[in-house]
Amino acid sequence: MTPDEHRAMRESLGDHAMGRLEGHELATLEAHLQGCPACREELAEVASVLPALGRVDPDRLDHTPAPPPDLGDRIVAAARAERPASAGARTRNRWAPVAAAAAAALLVGGVAGYLVGDHDGIPREPVAVQAMDPTVQATAVAIPHTWGVEIVLDGDGFRSGATYRVVVEAEDGREVSAGEFIGTGASPMVCNLNSSVLRADAEEFRVVDVAGSTVLRGSLAT
Ligand SMILES: [Zn+2]
Repeated sequence: MTPDEHRAMRESLGDHAMGRLEGHELATLEAHLQGCPACREELAEVASVLPALGRVDPDRLDHTPAPPPDLGDRIVAAARAERPASAGARTRNRWAPVAAAAAAALLVGGVAGYLVGDHDGIPREPVAVQAMDPTVQATAVAIPHTWGVEIVLDGDGFRSGATYRVVVEAEDGREVSAGEFIGTGASPMVCNLNSSVLRADAEEFRVVDVAGSTVLRGSLAT
């Protein structure tokens, strides 16, 4: 599997979760999924939202909680979440079909479409990220915990063997460590980074290399 192939496959995961792939495209993706745990995990994450979107029952609308006021923003954030830093490059986003379905569901019945679903009842929120290093391709989600915000960073292109540290900047300017990781080069990496800054107080997170340069930043501004 080449990184390019992996990238192309990841872009079709949203369509796959919606059942929109067929024939050769479907066969190719399924073959890739067999050998790629990162894509299987990503597919499970994308697919986890879909049941929430399908739960539009007209008879129960009175009991359906109102959509969160920031849902529109979150759809936009999801659509931006994995835009590559290289200017002008157009990449299909695997969340795009899901975001479109969420928007459609809202038009139909005002369902509470929690865009990225949740794991164990804890919402996962896509974070808009910007890579300063063009070889870095990454997406991120933020998970609010009672003890602070967790960032799940999913990407590749971080220099193999190099140490990176991750800091969360709070609204008051404090910079708090969210841990470190070692780059895996072209191999996909999913990394959980935990900080003691509460989600509501977090402004952004940054991935910093050993030289102190920021290679990636993600907006946590609300
Ligand atoms: Zn893959």
